[in-house]
Amino acid sequence: MNKTPRNIVLIGTGIMCATLGILLRKLIPSANISFYERLDKVSAESSDAWNNAGTGHSAFCELNYTSYDDGKVDISKALEIANSFEISKQLWAYLKEQGCISFDIPFINDIPHMSFVWGDDNVDFLKKRYLAMRCAPIFQDMIYSTDRNQIKDWVPLIMEGRVLDTPFAATKMDIGTDVNFGMLARGMIAYLEKCENVAVHLGHNVTDFTKQADGRWKIDIKDLATEEEKEVIADTVFIGAGGGTLPLLEKSEIEEAQGYGGFPVSGHFLRCTNENVVKRHNAKVYGKAAVGSPPMSVPHLDTRMIEGQQSLFFGPYAGFSTKFLKNGSYMDLPLSIEMHNIWPILAAGMRNVDLTKYLIKQVVQSSEDRFKELLVYYPNAKIDDWELTTAGQRVQIIKEDKDQGGVLQFGTEIVCAADKSLAALLGASPGASTSVSIMLEVIHKMFPDEIKSKKWRQTLQTMIPSYGASLLENCELCLATRERTTAILNLAGTQK
Ligand SMILES: Cc1cc2nc3c(=O)[nH]c(=O)nc-3n(C[C@H](O)[C@H](O)[C@H](O)COP(=O)(O)OP(=O)(O)OC[C@H]3O[C@@H](n4cnc5c(N)ncnc54)[C@H](O)[C@@H]3O)c2cc1C
Repeated sequence: MNKTPRNIVLIGTGIMCATLGILLRKLIPSANISFYERLDKVSAESSDAWNNAGTGHSAFCELNYTSYDDGKVDISKALEIANSFEISKQLWAYLKEQGCISFDIPFINDIPHMSFVWGDDNVDFLKKRYLAMRCAPIFQDMIYSTDRNQIKDWVPLIMEGRVLDTPFAATKMDIGTDVNFGMLARGMIAYLEKCENVAVHLGHNVTDFTKQADGRWKIDIKDLATEEEKEVIADTVFIGAGGGTLPLLEKSEIEEAQGYGGFPVSGHFLRCTNENVVKRHNAKVYGKAAVGSPPMSVPHLDTRMIEGQQSLFFGPYAGFSTKFLKNGSYMDLPLSIEMHNIWPILAAGMRNVDLTKYLIKQVVQSSEDRFKELLVYYPNAKIDDWELTTAGQRVQIIKEDKDQGGVLQFGTEIVCAADKSLAALLGASPGASTSVSIMLEVIHKMFPDEIKSKKWRQTLQTMIPSYGASLLENCELCLATRERTTAILNLAGTQK
């Protein structure tokens, strides 16, 4: 007897839904997969290249992924993130190898990842971090230097004009990358659109959910071009609406959504308009975040490759806006406050006075203040060479906590209904780079039985050859996997 195909609805067309769409298409080829996106362009919110920093987060340069306590460096989070990025590259390599995605210009480029610090304590930390990391095969190519000429050779803009009255140090990984996540997501969705049983509805705003007696979801959707209200029935729903996820999750009224709130943080970058300066920098150079500032505020002087053009960015500068999406409404935050999350939000607010102070300082910054921050990294910068750009919104998770009332979290979290029919992704970091691991986790939560089957495991291993094995524990597998994806993705992969 023929079973009715499963109806899967994915809300959003950013890198998360695009990735989940690809994985589900391969795992359940008979399913009907429908994407609903409120904008009239695919992947135009946080995943778009101009709205994020494009760093292929591998923990090579981001100092906030290695904690430092009592003179000891903990690299466990860095290992986890580096591993996740290797998993992402495997899926992207598979899609490229199979011809599912093809671009005239690469969506992923080699850009060395560097950390640069100054002052005795920071230099001591970087040295210990380097010594701990280079023992792990995944970080074995890292180089450390305190040599002025060598660092100047790597990043002249950072060293020229610098007063060298305090010790400084840098690490470098040549296999760092810059990724155009928007381009990649658009490529994935263009491929899916050509597949049977997949539909992509742009300009469609999802407004409400109702759980029906038969266990399926009725989804209310507005066609923004015609103003027509539609109802769609789904067996499985994934809310991958970026900043727009929390309000939709609240509409689902699932018990698991209770106690969650969101805190939006907006971002700005300075973008260099002088081509001669842009050409003189070729690295993503991350420093240390100021004490009391949130992890996503780590300053970086950043080479980007967007649509074949090299650019230079500095930032981010955080800001506060009540919008949950760059193209959202100022009512997003007020409307998300309900009885179930008011106390966690207030409690988290009271416990994060430093963050509030930091954001206020950032919001009232003048362009001269912003420029002064740039001078710390690029001492000879000229103010006229830089313009301010607005990046995407991040909605940080506020979560009910038994002891503290409410806590603010900077990671991501999957909220899944007990009956596995609906799941949502909250939070923003480390984000797009780890999208494949995050979406695999969504699949583990939503399809706990099927994922154990031989068929699903084999399908996943076709796409992600290391699936089921640990790249961190198996040195040979780690290096062979990296070599393979480096070749397929046309990356250099060697120390220069
Ligand atoms: C300033 C900044 C810098 C960042 N830097 C990096 C970086 O260097 N490296 C990295 O890996 N990550 C980075 N990130 C994080 C990364 O951008 C995000 O984690 C990732 O893009 C999230 O993808 P997504 O698909 O969940 O969301 P999005 O790309 O935001 O997509 C969500 C989609 O859902 C749609 N939507 C929303 N509400 C509805 C609705 N009601 N109905 C229908 N559609 C809806 C939106 O229009 C949007 O298209 C950064 C983020 C920011 C903001």
